[in-house]
Amino acid sequence: MKRNDWIRKSHLFRTDEYVCPQCGAAYEKPYQVCPNCRSQMGKSRYDSSWVDKAESLSAMMDDDW
Ligand SMILES: [Zn+2]
Repeated sequence: MKRNDWIRKSHLFRTDEYVCPQCGAAYEKPYQVCPNCRSQMGKSRYDSSWVDKAESLSAMMDDDW
């Protein structure tokens, strides 16, 4: 059975989203089964391509200069 992993999107000013890789639906928490397309889900996966921007931005703001 094919397993899917939530794609976690980090946002600076609101809660993280978990996006279903099958149907693209986004939720505020990782369900075990996607409520939209009923795909069985594994654990969430960190999508670094989405996080990079937010993390570098917060890193800049945390910097002392
Ligand atoms: Zn889905």
